[in-house]
Amino acid sequence: MEILRVENLSKVYGKGETAVKALNDVSFTVNKGEFVAIIGPSGSGKSTLLHMLGGVDRPSSGKVYVENTDIYDLNETQLAIFRRRQIGLIYQFYNLIPILTVEENITLPLLLDQHKVDQKQLENIVNVLNLKDRLNHLPNQLSGGQQQRVSIGRALISNPSIMLADEPTGNLDSKNSGEIIDLLKLFNKKHNQTLIVITHDEQIALQADRVISIEDGMIAKDEVIRK
Ligand code: ADP
Ligand code: ADP
Repeated sequence: MEILRVENLSKVYGKGETAVKALNDVSFTVNKGEFVAIIGPSGSGKSTLLHMLGGVDRPSSGKVYVENTDIYDLNETQLAIFRRRQIGLIYQFYNLIPILTVEENITLPLLLDQHKVDQKQLENIVNVLNLKDRLNHLPNQLSGGQQQRVSIGRALISNPSIMLADEPTGNLDSKNSGEIIDLLKLFNKKHNQTLIVITHDEQIALQADRVISIEDGMIAKDEVIRK
């Protein structure tokens, strides 16, 4: 079943002489529960694509449909709500809020939406992520692997249908990288959460169901590895 459809997506940054065409007429679909790795050289448009999929930044032209909703047809408020409910986003450098505790960072998306925290769900996430004894710590009191697990917790708390990760292990050693990918795969396989990961790590790309290579803002290759 299709969850995501991208049609003729283009993104140009800037204007005139300094304009950069970061994405050039990209089209593809992703099925629910698929694990897609996005690879390609630096500057080829991978992060731009991920941001377009997540409703973070508007495309210059083209469409993104998530569960048949044209997300850029939504107004800013609706788009912000869509993002918090449907999309989990993870970055290389965690993007945690330094003055908030681990628990506050994880539950922030719910509070922004004025939703009550489901304590049982919080407990489950914290247990799976092995953060139980770190709930009242601040981000700078945690190791890199722990900080990335907090950012996964924050991404998972709204039960998103799609998890988008931009080089989630780029700043971690191989042991911590493995743990982070295993956690993302756990939610992908067990809860059928669609997972799209930008990575430079071949070992991670080889674990995906499908690998999309981006070059010069276009899809250079799209290979199904396993069904
Ligand atoms: P990748 O993730 O593959 O490294 P990006 O999507 O970050 O590539 O960037 C694609 C191109 O768009 C690059 O040439 C980059 O310099 C440019 N770019 C990215 N973000 C911006 C921005 N906010 N303003 C101007 N140019 C940008
Ligand atoms: P890792 O083995 O994941 O790289 P570290 O060696 O960085 O972890 O940290 C080991 C433990 O020390 C972790 O449990 C972490 O929570 C704790 N820790 C690391 N830095 C700090 C700090 N600045 N303040 C308090 N605790 C810390």
